[in-house]
Amino acid sequence: MSPEETLELLSQIALVDDRVVKVDHIEQRAQLTMWAVVLRDVPLAFAGEAVGRHYAESAWPIMPKDIASRWRDQVRDRLGRSTGTFEPTDHPNLDPDDVGGYVRALRAHRGAVAGGDAEPVGLRELMPAVGDRLGGGRVAELVPANDAFREAKETRYPRRERPAGPPELAVHCPKCGASEKRPCRLPTGRQMVGTHPSRRDVWEAQAVGGES
Ligand SMILES: [Zn+2]
Repeated sequence: MSPEETLELLSQIALVDDRVVKVDHIEQRAQLTMWAVVLRDVPLAFAGEAVGRHYAESAWPIMPKDIASRWRDQVRDRLGRSTGTFEPTDHPNLDPDDVGGYVRALRAHRGAVAGGDAEPVGLRELMPAVGDRLGGGRVAELVPANDAFREAKETRYPRRERPAGPPELAVHCPKCGASEKRPCRLPTGRQMVGTHPSRRDVWEAQAVGGES
């Protein structure tokens, strides 16, 4: 924040805690200079919020280092969530072979993320969003899984056996006309939770017939 903004912050703090801002004019100027230096990188809005948090947790008069350390935590958190990359489409004029330009753009992006001017791009944001295709959002093409991936996945997450459902699904339903393996349907067309009793009868008759 600028020295003017620091002055604004100090006057806000003076309203909630009269122990912080110096009364003597010379002291006040020195205090303003010191705060402005410590909080140079901290946006005013963040500093205001940090002051609120400080007084919610502490009875001590706030020091500029309290705000600066909250800002550092936030920067660390934001950079931790950033994947350290950006979409090439964000920089359409950047030549892919221009390594220096790429590094500069990356550095600028990191700076913007740290300063709160850009949102950290997390892996989630880089993944395709389901149902987002019509919304005009970020759309990525899915790469088909190869055999090695499927094998590894099968080892790690064995596919659960699907419940077979009631055995009478094996036969055609005489009541609603559902074919084999298809669920029974109500006259409204809605899928039934169970099956029609007559379908069960047909299946039982066949099962008994098969046994004899
Ligand atoms: Zn049926």
